[in-house]
Amino acid sequence: MKSILIQGGHVVDPANQLDGEADVLLSDGKVAKVGKGLKVKADITIDAKGKLVTPGLIDMHVHFREPGFEYKETIATGSHSAVAGGVTSVAAMPNTNPPIDDQSIVEFIKMKAEKEGYCHVYPIGCISKKREGQEMAELGELKRAGAVALSDDGAPIMNAELMRRVMEYAKMLDLTVIDHCEDSHLSCDGVMHEGEASMKLGLRGIPAASETVMVGRNILLSEMTGAKFHAAHVSTAGSVELIRQAKKKGLNVTAETCPHYWALSDKSIKAYNANFKMNPPLRGDEDVAAIRKGIKEGVIDALCTDHAPHANTEKQCEFDKAAFGIVGLETLFPLTYSHLVEPGVISLSRAVEMLTVIPAKILGIPKGTLSEGADADVALFDLKVSRKVDAKTFKSKGRNTPFNGWDLKGWADVTIVSGNVKYERKD
Ligand SMILES: [Zn+2]
Ligand SMILES: [Zn+2]
Repeated sequence: MKSILIQGGHVVDPANQLDGEADVLLSDGKVAKVGKGLKVKADITIDAKGKLVTPGLIDMHVHFREPGFEYKETIATGSHSAVAGGVTSVAAMPNTNPPIDDQSIVEFIKMKAEKEGYCHVYPIGCISKKREGQEMAELGELKRAGAVALSDDGAPIMNAELMRRVMEYAKMLDLTVIDHCEDSHLSCDGVMHEGEASMKLGLRGIPAASETVMVGRNILLSEMTGAKFHAAHVSTAGSVELIRQAKKKGLNVTAETCPHYWALSDKSIKAYNANFKMNPPLRGDEDVAAIRKGIKEGVIDALCTDHAPHANTEKQCEFDKAAFGIVGLETLFPLTYSHLVEPGVISLSRAVEMLTVIPAKILGIPKGTLSEGADADVALFDLKVSRKVDAKTFKSKGRNTPFNGWDLKGWADVTIVSGNVKYERKD
């Protein structure tokens, strides 16, 4: 296998408290050495002067749609999109068809990813059979097959007794329960955040409480069972406050949020454009401020995309009828850098930490570091050149982004997965 020397870049590797100029040598699919002025000959030398070099990013929340919805995205196109964003590992949510509720689907995804994927794909197993929220899935079998966490994402677990039992098993199996926190009675048929903006647009609202009450319930059940509970796509001020308190108490609670919850609000929804429609919805200004504060103060642990591609026909229709969800892999780091790091909400090193070691720890995967001997997953970013988001150029099949036309910095330049260059920016 070939060796790659990444020379003279600004290396940020929070796992090793590294934040400065260094060379990175990759050999045989592993990190061989990181240090200043390495005097070695490599098969490929990459000039990284003026570039940021990080462990490949981890997106712990994506929807790759395969099996069942290949017209929206496949493991091949989704993982291509990932590496185009500097992401080298993803955790794939199980709302496929069939859903990832048994061993054979976990194995199918791993096999597909190995054959056709551009990056590492870690399947997340279902909490309930068929994601119906009724009967517990075979959690032990899912874990043995390689599922890295449990979730029915897209659907809430309305039955608290089921959630309690799932958490008891998850604790025994040492798996994190990632919940899509939503009380479906409260959210009902809502299509956007309930507030002034929904009144003005005349659209049915989803109250912030529909998320917050479920975050609260899950924290209580996590306290009761000792299970690791991870709140998916946190969007409300109330959730942030409950998670803050849970952490103060020392509970096994972690949380993630996505770029749209810190860069947009319900006021961003223009002209009934369904590229601004996702679940949970874009929230009010106070929620957005609380999310940014939660990121700043470490209440929110990880940053992710909730990458949810859809076909054009599913988005270019009435707002009411359009599918929920937006794509995000290719704009994850640019939105993190331009809207969190540059404005001083968090440091560059903290941003990288929230996109590498922290999600790796939550999922229990050996990724997100440039330690010697670690897998050679590396990303190079350009922090200087500002580029416009152009959905037409996405590697994802999905074009459904609310950020089209935005000027952002922090685009991925080169992405290396297991010692192989899987993406190189051409323009
Ligand atoms: Zn969800
Ligand atoms: Zn999701």
